[in-house]
Amino acid sequence: MPYFHLLTSAALLGAIAQGVSAQNASTCAGVSGACSQLASLYGDSVLSNSSSNYTTVNTQFWDLRSDLAPSCIFLPNTADEVASALGILSSCQAEFAVRGGGHMNFPGSNNIDNGVLLALNNLNNITVNANGNESTFTVGPGNRWFEVYAALEPFGLYAIGGRLKTIGVSGLSLIGGFHYFINKYGFAMDNIVQYDVVLGNGTQVVANNATNPDLFWALKGGANNFGVVTRFTTRAYAIPEISTTMLQFNTSAVEAWVQATVDLANSTPDVAAGAVLTIRYDPATKMATPGVLGVQAGTESPPSCFANFTAIGPTAQIDNVTTPTVWHDQLDSPDQMYRVQFGHHTILPDTTRIFAIYQAWTEAVDNVADVEGLQSTFVLNVMPKSAAAVSKNNGIGNVWGLDDTQNLIAWQTANTWQNASDDLRMTNWITKFLDYHHRINQQMGLASEFLYMGDAAEFQNPFLGMPFENVQRMRAIRAAYDPQGVFTHLNWGGFKLGA
Ligand SMILES: Cc1cc2nc3c(=O)[nH]c(=O)nc-3n(C[C@H](O)[C@H](O)[C@H](O)COP(=O)(O)OP(=O)(O)OC[C@H]3O[C@@H](n4cnc5c(N)ncnc54)[C@H](O)[C@@H]3O)c2cc1C
Repeated sequence: MPYFHLLTSAALLGAIAQGVSAQNASTCAGVSGACSQLASLYGDSVLSNSSSNYTTVNTQFWDLRSDLAPSCIFLPNTADEVASALGILSSCQAEFAVRGGGHMNFPGSNNIDNGVLLALNNLNNITVNANGNESTFTVGPGNRWFEVYAALEPFGLYAIGGRLKTIGVSGLSLIGGFHYFINKYGFAMDNIVQYDVVLGNGTQVVANNATNPDLFWALKGGANNFGVVTRFTTRAYAIPEISTTMLQFNTSAVEAWVQATVDLANSTPDVAAGAVLTIRYDPATKMATPGVLGVQAGTESPPSCFANFTAIGPTAQIDNVTTPTVWHDQLDSPDQMYRVQFGHHTILPDTTRIFAIYQAWTEAVDNVADVEGLQSTFVLNVMPKSAAAVSKNNGIGNVWGLDDTQNLIAWQTANTWQNASDDLRMTNWITKFLDYHHRINQQMGLASEFLYMGDAAEFQNPFLGMPFENVQRMRAIRAAYDPQGVFTHLNWGGFKLGA
């Protein structure tokens, strides 16, 4: 009898649920139904393509390839409004995209044709709880990192976020987050102590070390597979001043520059320090220009961690002791400049092999020199083992599960071009270049399978580079928190775990 009672209750609940969704389905058919419901509830916060500011909001993307045509754009003002929207989107079975800072250059990750764009611009609160190195701040997903650094600076605080100016807080935090100071503080995700999340059915939950700890872990690198984060609570550090260096070299310095990069990856400075390391190459002149944007905590100038670079003999050098906002303010990367694609692989620090990849890259660039608007940059991202050690030792971990005994370097190409007609050519070109050289690295025993979502191309799958047990655990967590698969089927863009 008790079993019969349970079965009857379950059947009854199922029938009620079916009735509810049947009713929703009849009153709310797909995207148009969702847009109508959102418009009737939220008026001016919902933009159709006839709204005067639709185009303005719909071009707040870095990559021109992200300029798609959503049926409507909803700009929620509160977490409750995000929750209401998620309830409507899931009951209407309406496809949607979510945008934080709009910097991910993966078409379809942050915008959608004929769906609903949930643009989080107005969730832009920042509050600072200043307490020295115990400080935290809360930040809404509509903020850029520069706004965070500006809010922290009056308290003499700094945070682990984007290295340039306008990268979005939320996308970067959900995929990992490379800052100059990862060698000491780990990645941005390792510094988050709480996420406020709206799940696929519109439920609001918090995830921290004590409440929903499985979701807390999964959000540390698991991207947009679990819910919409409406607030991050993050650590901040007492770093009022930084010592910076901008270096530029000529073509003959490239090999020594690669060696200095390898030295940086293998060094274990006590001080927090790191750099953006790039080589620009002009196929018309065949000239390569290596550069360093180096930052070190404190006031020692020039910053000693980059002595191996300055020893090469730069053609230009600007050193400063300054504040984080003055530094980041000059590192703008405006939206809508070009079509742009990143792609990368990861390797053990090996000067000879990285220099060989660089040489092959210049030859590869020569092969597409006729592409209009072509700019190609070779980027090395240093990942010292001390960065991986932070999550190994903090009792929380992250989904990457990186080996904390191995220094790594991600070798990346960033390519821009002008015309949509070159999209396929450029994608084919870079796919072959990346695959071929990664294969050689594998054969030489130098490859790491790690891929960073922030630097990966849309045809790469960073989940394949994570420990399989971590991927399985994320899939189980996704099934528990999003049983209807809203963040798989309706919000399908970007780096997804897969069905
Ligand atoms: C010029 C440039 C410089 C960069 N520099 C760095 C760097 O220094 N360090 C680094 O680590 N990375 C860097 N990146 C990579 C960057 O971190 C990623 O592109 C990141 O996704 C940007 O975040 P966003 O909020 O701007 O992105 P968006 O494009 O808005 O979002 C990225 C993805 O996250 C999802 N998403 C966004 N917000 C939420 C949310 N609140 N809840 C759920 N899902 C959400 C989106 O749907 C999308 O799939 C850089 C990228 C560019 C283009």
